[in-house]
Amino acid sequence: MPVPGVPILEGLYPSTLDLYPFEAKEFNRIHQFYENLGQKRFTTTKCKKCGHVPFPPRVVCPKCNSDDLEWVDLPTQGKVLQFTEEVAGVPLGFEAPLIHALIDLGEGRKLVSRIINCKEGQLKEGDTVKLAVFDIPPMIIEKKGGVMEEAKRVFFAFEPVKK
Ligand SMILES: [Zn+2]
Repeated sequence: MPVPGVPILEGLYPSTLDLYPFEAKEFNRIHQFYENLGQKRFTTTKCKKCGHVPFPPRVVCPKCNSDDLEWVDLPTQGKVLQFTEEVAGVPLGFEAPLIHALIDLGEGRKLVSRIINCKEGQLKEGDTVKLAVFDIPPMIIEKKGGVMEEAKRVFFAFEPVKK
């Protein structure tokens, strides 16, 4: 089964074409986001000083520059406000239709995400979509002592809620 959004060339995974973040804690200061995502939790950082809750998560509050942050859960369902649907000329590794939507998660929070598991022409404005977490190829990282290890990775999109 093809992995959504990952360029696979004859079974090899070229890291120069890697579209996804290095998620391991050795490389990424918001690695907790991906650990939570792996448990189907959609989270971000909340500033303990001023209460600001940006998305994507940050290492420093963009409002008050405090680095005293905590992890909070975001809703995992929302409504499609607008969307685009590419049916031809999609980038290498993706399948048509390639759909991106502006999603309203409620409480004034909106984000743009890819929509998967949706056929061409099916999505409508106002549709309810839910978080979909999927595996992406692991990253090879070097641990202390030169030990090479595969680090599991996940990423997210949204998918239509079946009616
Ligand atoms: Zn703040």
